[in-house]
Amino acid sequence: TDVKELLLSRIRDVADYPEPGVMFKDITPLLADPAAFTALTDALAEITVRHGATKIVGLEARGFILGAPAAVRAGVGFIPVRKAGKLPGATLSQAYDLEYGSAEIEVHAEDLVAGDRVMVIDDVLATGGTAEASLQLIRRAGADVAGVAVLMELAFLAGRQRLEPALGGAPLEAL
Ligand code: 5GP
Repeated sequence: TDVKELLLSRIRDVADYPEPGVMFKDITPLLADPAAFTALTDALAEITVRHGATKIVGLEARGFILGAPAAVRAGVGFIPVRKAGKLPGATLSQAYDLEYGSAEIEVHAEDLVAGDRVMVIDDVLATGGTAEASLQLIRRAGADVAGVAVLMELAFLAGRQRLEPALGGAPLEAL
């Protein structure tokens, strides 16, 4: 579609970042283009509304940039899921494995409650580890998963397959 072409045209491939052999997808040209950023925001808000989500969870850090305007557009609340140690209140935390070592993400416990239907938003789905951990956090908080929406899915990393059990039938939409 036209929107897909516009979004793709504003993503820059950066070779050997953050380490040799990695082709990084840089979304900053898209953010700098108001037509593209608006089209992306509208598309993420449309997915959120279509799946009946009542809240958006954005994953630090680019999930904040994409998720916050989508939440305003969709008329739902925005909840940040942050790297460990950044949130001041009582948190739920979830550890997950990286290629080397592990990472931990957190959410304010009071921000997600039973009855919430949560759409998770991030820029890129790579191995799926970050998104998977966020779905575990959401379910542990007692909320329901409405789905995961990302700008880009790096299909060769098979994140969709990794995410499938945690999705429990909820949709993964990649623009
Ligand atoms: P995963 O946990 O799926 O392996 O990695 C996804 C996370 O890493 C996302 O939060 C995403 O922002 C970041 N990420 C991984 N690869 C890329 C990339 O090529 N471009 C951008 N913009 N983010 C990436």
